[in-house]
Amino acid sequence: MSMASHSSKQKTGQFVLPGERLGVIEEFIPDAGTYVKDGVIYSRVVGRALVDFLNKRVSVFPVVEPASVPKIGNTVVGQVSNSQSDNANVRIFKIGNKSLSGIFSGVLHIADVQMRYVDSMFDVCRPGDIMRAEVISEKNKVYHLSTKDKNMGIVYAFCSQCGYPLEPKRQLMSCPRCGNTEKRKTALDYGKAEL
Ligand SMILES: [Zn+2]
Repeated sequence: MSMASHSSKQKTGQFVLPGERLGVIEEFIPDAGTYVKDGVIYSRVVGRALVDFLNKRVSVFPVVEPASVPKIGNTVVGQVSNSQSDNANVRIFKIGNKSLSGIFSGVLHIADVQMRYVDSMFDVCRPGDIMRAEVISEKNKVYHLSTKDKNMGIVYAFCSQCGYPLEPKRQLMSCPRCGNTEKRKTALDYGKAEL
């Protein structure tokens, strides 16, 4: 058995996040809940991966749980979808330990990042990062977030040059693959959080 099919087999039934690698197109036909970039199949949604070896298909079934919406005071987890100079948009997919069936829109303003002054949101988060935050208010179904607590912030960050997971190195985040360094507002348990 090749390394590639071995790793794909391990993905069956596994909880996957958007952007998670599922296999390659030489091996599988990408099906529902997936997308392809440069020949690699990724999950489009939060869900469970299903690898059908007989038909050579890989798909992701969205996680469906009883309806639950974020409330003020809740700790939520989401993926940064957009980052401007003074705010970032976050697709919330989890409240506490509970995965959500739908995706909720969150926004983090630069004033709510931390106690100390922050120059730019680009030093806080970048698109694709996974963020843990507290819901501080809600207006028109947009959840306003705060990462001021030391347990809040980015839990997984990806290199904006090559997409590889970043590792903390002194005050910076460093890419072990391409050597690029960036900044983030990380949570205390960066890289160790269970999603
Ligand atoms: Zn890199």
